[in-house]
Amino acid sequence: MIIPITCFNCGYAISQHWEDYIKKIQEEKKDEFTALAELRIIRYCCRRMLLTHVESINIAIAKRQLSETPMISKMLLTFL
Ligand SMILES: [Zn+2]
Repeated sequence: MIIPITCFNCGYAISQHWEDYIKKIQEEKKDEFTALAELRIIRYCCRRMLLTHVESINIAIAKRQLSETPMISKMLLTFL
């Protein structure tokens, strides 16, 4: 499935970050929070676009099964 070109809410061009995002979480073994921060994707509406993409979810599930790092907890703390 293709990543949407722009964020549905704010219109930010999000698809340009997809390849770098996948590279960071798969090859460089960074967590999603760090990868998004390094790509300077700050708005939560834009983060949602990458985090909830079908491929991202499958990768996150696979990583979650291998690791016990509370990735979701770290992400939630950024919004508080
Ligand atoms: Zn957005």
